[in-house]
Amino acid sequence: MLLTAALVFTALVQVAGLGLVPALLGFAALVVAVLIWEASFPGSGEAAPHADRLMPAIVDRAVEAVVSDLPDPTIVLTPESMVVAFNESAQQITPGILRGEPISFALRVPNEMRRIEFFQRVPTDRWWEATIAPLVLPGGAGPDRHLVLLALRDLTPLRRVEEMRADFVANASHELRTPLASLSGFIETLQGPARNDPSSRDRFLAIMKEQATRMARLIDDLLSLSRIEQKVHIHPDTTTDLVMIVHEVAAGLSPLAQERDVEIKITDRARSLDVLGDRDELIRVFENLIENALKYGASGKRVDICLAREPATGEARDAIVSVRDYGPGIAPEHLPRLTERFYRVDIGESRAQGGTGLGLALVKHILNRHRGRLMIESTPGSGANFSVRLPLSRAGRAAHISK
Ligand code: ADP
Repeated sequence: MLLTAALVFTALVQVAGLGLVPALLGFAALVVAVLIWEASFPGSGEAAPHADRLMPAIVDRAVEAVVSDLPDPTIVLTPESMVVAFNESAQQITPGILRGEPISFALRVPNEMRRIEFFQRVPTDRWWEATIAPLVLPGGAGPDRHLVLLALRDLTPLRRVEEMRADFVANASHELRTPLASLSGFIETLQGPARNDPSSRDRFLAIMKEQATRMARLIDDLLSLSRIEQKVHIHPDTTTDLVMIVHEVAAGLSPLAQERDVEIKITDRARSLDVLGDRDELIRVFENLIENALKYGASGKRVDICLAREPATGEARDAIVSVRDYGPGIAPEHLPRLTERFYRVDIGESRAQGGTGLGLALVKHILNRHRGRLMIESTPGSGANFSVRLPLSRAGRAAHISK
């Protein structure tokens, strides 16, 4: 380039009469420009630069395409553990990852293993399984054709389910063991010290009956839960009227309401609320909610049940049934956990009321299967409101329009 420029300037001086000084200055400016160019882009006209020597031609379109289509976080490495390609999910879990840099800068994974599980604490607790496999590209035997594929699988949901299952078995066993221990204790007492004491025998037998009932109730709830879980993906297809169900359930619970000195008031804002649902399961939902209001909210002396369509004007889509009590209510920190199995605000009170801690878990599962929702609102000191939202059946919506 400089040689050509020198020849051009010489020709300009001799043929076109350019002055020697401007010609020399022009040539010097060109030399400086070439030097600056060299400093900014070293070796652009010569051998491959440093970065390219590390990964010559390995940003292969095919590799990029394969990796970007994989759903799990996936990274392609050179045998020296340099990052060649990665997909978006890999970038999400290792934000520091960069092409051409050692993977160890972004992720610490021992390289002598082929399948490993590891735990990440930041930004959230996560369990990963990493599979490391050699990836040989066709076309040539150079080191750039021998890559390493690193695929990650998120094990967190699986681990959570395993943990929940273990917790559930532990909780269920504990719940059953308590009444069982009490039964065994009373049996021993009746066989021994109280053998000839008719008055304590009657008292003990009454307690034993209560404990046996509690165990039966618990087993019943556990079985219902597992039955509903098995059917969770099968949507019910029989038409059921919620107005009839709620009135029936409330009537069935009127002895309990009388016993607790609570008045149940039902407001019907709809003549019928037809949904596609399993009648027995829906009865269970409202039995649990109204019974809870009578048990935990008895001090409010009143339970209001309201049945309505939503939206109230125009074509309705959903049925809303709310059960409101005026008892002590529930502190906000408990609200998100109420539908967990065995979660109770006050274990002692729940047991005293004959509760199993599974009622609201059952309600939630049944509603999930019916594509419905449970909403809980409460102001501590002034009561709680449990409302159920269920989609109306096609006939249920039409019935409203024709009225
Ligand atoms: P339980 O068998 O204990 O009644 P649930 O799942 O039905 O189990 O309810 C879980 C907990 O939610 C109860 O133990 C109670 O602490 C609380 N709870 C439910 N309904 C009410 C309510 N209407 N008012 C106050 N607390 C309630």
